[in-house]
Amino acid sequence: MLANSLIELDRAHLIHPVASYRGHEKLGVRVLKSAKGATVTDATGHQLIDGFAGLWCVNAGYGHESIVEAAARQMRELPYATGYFDLGSEAAIRLAAELADRAPGDLNHVYFTLGGSDAIDSTVRFVRYYWHAKGSPERDQFISIEQGYHGSSTVGAGLTALPSFHAGFGVPFDWQHKIPSPYPYRNPVGSDPDAIIAASLAALKEKIEAIGADRVAAFYAEPIQGSGGVIVPPAGWLKAIRELCRQYGILFIADEVITGFGRTGPLFACAHDEIVPDFMTTAKGLTSGYVPMGAMLMADHVYDVIADGAGAAAVGHGYTYSAHPVSAAVGLAVLKLYEGGLLENGVKAGRRLMAGLESLRDHPLVGDVRGRGMLAAVELVVDKARKTPLPAAAAPARRIFDRAWENGLVIRAFAQGVLGYAPPLCCTEGEIDQIVERTRKTLDETLEDPDVRQAL
Ligand code: PMP
Repeated sequence: MLANSLIELDRAHLIHPVASYRGHEKLGVRVLKSAKGATVTDATGHQLIDGFAGLWCVNAGYGHESIVEAAARQMRELPYATGYFDLGSEAAIRLAAELADRAPGDLNHVYFTLGGSDAIDSTVRFVRYYWHAKGSPERDQFISIEQGYHGSSTVGAGLTALPSFHAGFGVPFDWQHKIPSPYPYRNPVGSDPDAIIAASLAALKEKIEAIGADRVAAFYAEPIQGSGGVIVPPAGWLKAIRELCRQYGILFIADEVITGFGRTGPLFACAHDEIVPDFMTTAKGLTSGYVPMGAMLMADHVYDVIADGAGAAAVGHGYTYSAHPVSAAVGLAVLKLYEGGLLENGVKAGRRLMAGLESLRDHPLVGDVRGRGMLAAVELVVDKARKTPLPAAAAPARRIFDRAWENGLVIRAFAQGVLGYAPPLCCTEGEIDQIVERTRKTLDETLEDPDVRQAL
C-alpha cells in the first residue's frame, strides 16, 4: 500500500539520474527499504545481494554502527563549518592528512567536494589556473579517452565519452579531445598487451601533435574504465601513458572515483603500476556512500605554482559544503574499517569473485570475463567467434537487470550487454558464490529470451 502511493509520488515528482523519463513513468520506481552487510531489502520484502554496492560506492557494506556513530557525534558537536574565512573543522583537517599520508607520492594537498563530478570540475579549474600562473594560458586543450567517464557536470560530461551524456547537451566543447580506449576484448590491434599499450601511446602522441604540444593542458584516465563497461587496460598501460604525459609536460589526472578505496585491492589503483599522477580524483568509497563527499588531491609542485601564482589574491574556487565535517567524520570512520580488515577481505573476496566469474566462460553467451579485485565485468555475445553483441531488441540493460533482480541479485547491466560487478568489500565467500550462481541462472534465462534466440 505504502509502496503504491510512493510509486505515484515518485512518478509525479522525482527526476531520476540517467533514466528515460517516459520509460520510468511506465515502469515505476523500485523502493529500497533497508540494508545490512551486502544485502538490500526492497519495500515488498524482497532480499537481494547488492553486487554493485549501490553505484560502486558502498565499499564497506551497509549497516556499520561505527559510521553511524561517527556521523551522529559530529552532528551533535559541530554539524557544519565553512572552510571560507580561514576556518575549518578537526574532522576535515584530519581526513585530509590521512588521505595525503596514503596517496601516491607527493599528492599532499586535498580539496574536498560533494562527489566525483565536482572533483573533476575542480581539476579543470585548477589545471587552467596552473597554466595561467605558469605564464602558458594557451595550454587550454584537454584530452580524455573513448568510453571514459568523468562525471556529469557541464565540463565533466564533455570529458566523459558516453553518447547519452553528449546528445542534446551541447558537449563536448571543441577543447575536449579523445583517444581510443585500451579495450583488450575489442581492439583493432588485437588483445596483445604490448600492442595495446603501443597503440595508446601512438594515438596520444598523434593527438598531442595534431593539437600542438604547447597547447595541451591535461590528460584524464581512469585506471579501469568503469561506466564504459569495466574495461581493464593491460598491466603497465597506466605507467606508460603517464610517462608520455610527463615527457610532453602535460598534467596527468588519475580519476579514481570508482577504483579508489580498495575497489581493485590496494587503497588506490595507481599502486598497481606505481604511478604518481599530478591530480587524483576520488569519491564513492571515500565515505562508502553513507554521506556525499569527494576529494581531489593535488601534487606539491602543482599546489606551489597555484599558490605562488595567486599570491595574496584569493583563488576563486569553493563550495558551501567543501570539507563538510559530517562527511569528513564518516570518511575517517570508513578508513578505519578499510584498514581494520575490509581491504584484506576485499582482496580475498575479489579472488573468489574473479575465479567464479571465470567459471562462467563455458556459458554460450559469455564472450569475455575481466576485472581486478572487486571490480569485474562479464561481456555477453551471441557469437563468440565474431564477438557479436546481444541484439538491441533484447534490451539487455532492462531485461537482464530485471532477471537478476528476480533472482535476488543487483548487478549493473550495461546497454551493450556487459554485466558489471562491484560488490561491497565485506562480502563473505558464500555471498560471492551466490553472486556467481545467480548470474548463471540469469544467463540461462537470457538464453531463453526469444530476441536472443533469434540472434543466435
Ligand atoms: N569519475 C568517475 C570515474 C566515475 O565513475 C564517476 C561516477 N560514476 C564520476 C567521476 C562522477 O562522480 P559523481 O557521480 O559522484 O559525481
